[in-house]
Amino acid sequence: MNRFSKEVINVGEMASGALLTVPVYRLKGDSSAPSVYIQANMHGAEVQGNAVVFQLLELLKNISVKGDVTLVPYANPVACNHKNGEYTLGRFDPITGVNWNRMYHFDPSIIKPFVRESIGKDDAIIAANFKQLMIDKIEQKLEHNAFGLTTGQRIAYQLQRLAHQADYVLDLHTGPISSKHLYCPEYAKASAQYFNIPHNILIPNTFDGALDEATFCPWWQLQEAFAELGIKYSISSKALNKESFTVELGSQEQIDLDAALEDAKSILCYLQHKGVIDAAQYQPQIMTRFACYLKDYKAYYSPMGGMVDYLAEFGKPLAAGKPLARILRMDNYGDGDPLHYVSLENEVLPILHFASASVNQGTELYKVFTHFFEL
Ligand SMILES: [Zn+2]
Repeated sequence: MNRFSKEVINVGEMASGALLTVPVYRLKGDSSAPSVYIQANMHGAEVQGNAVVFQLLELLKNISVKGDVTLVPYANPVACNHKNGEYTLGRFDPITGVNWNRMYHFDPSIIKPFVRESIGKDDAIIAANFKQLMIDKIEQKLEHNAFGLTTGQRIAYQLQRLAHQADYVLDLHTGPISSKHLYCPEYAKASAQYFNIPHNILIPNTFDGALDEATFCPWWQLQEAFAELGIKYSISSKALNKESFTVELGSQEQIDLDAALEDAKSILCYLQHKGVIDAAQYQPQIMTRFACYLKDYKAYYSPMGGMVDYLAEFGKPLAAGKPLARILRMDNYGDGDPLHYVSLENEVLPILHFASASVNQGTELYKVFTHFFEL
């Protein structure tokens, strides 16, 4: 039976002096095999990933682990404890208002100088040097920043330092009320079929502060910088094969241990494909996997305030003109138009909707795939 280690890291301090801590669980593999870093619950209400990490640890005890596995549940102790009444808020730092998953670091100006000094070196050396460069940059940010860091940056950079050690990174989130979906970099779309996730958003090489981008954009931009010089440097070669995904596990504010077991198995299918584990029983399900490009993943904002009856089912194509939802207006009972149906002019694939029935005009009501296709 495999044993895992636990380390508790300090990611900040509260006003009282109490430490903000995060547990880091590790299974040690062979350093020649690829490694994975998985974290959960960066957004406070998105708790299901904690159950998936639990199930992963249970399953990993009894299978052959080839590469290092690092698992971090409860990655953000501020967000996780950020309650208001019966709800967890925890999507934005309450002090700065910044989304907790937009505080990671990548400075693209490191790429060109690195490429110039790497010409002629072999892939394994380039990969090792580049990984070290990214870790050094994060350590500089953490240890040598004269003007300090925000609470969120301090948490994010410490997690990012762990993530940069690994070849593959999975950041476990959920939607509000949501189907399962995966954010996948465009170059890694072949890997999407190893997860048992029916909806896939293909994202471009643009850094916007999220963990997946902070860990795949550097490698993708490195490859592009080599290509500009006419040097073939393939991100799919073994030494340079780095992938990161944001895995959206379903709805927020829910723990379902049975669903978590299925999601853990889905992650093991991916890890088996990548050679992090050796457990051939984990093979992806045969299913229809839909995808769309990030630019075609659209939010539909409510055209009016009111009380919403969400009608459109997730994952089922919704024909043009069919209702997404109907909105009840209490001020119009008896003498007006109390019920409004809202629809779109094109076929869409509904992925998630707002968590509350009560909405203001302009609330993000649904998110849908447009121009979607089978992967
Ligand atoms: Zn999230």
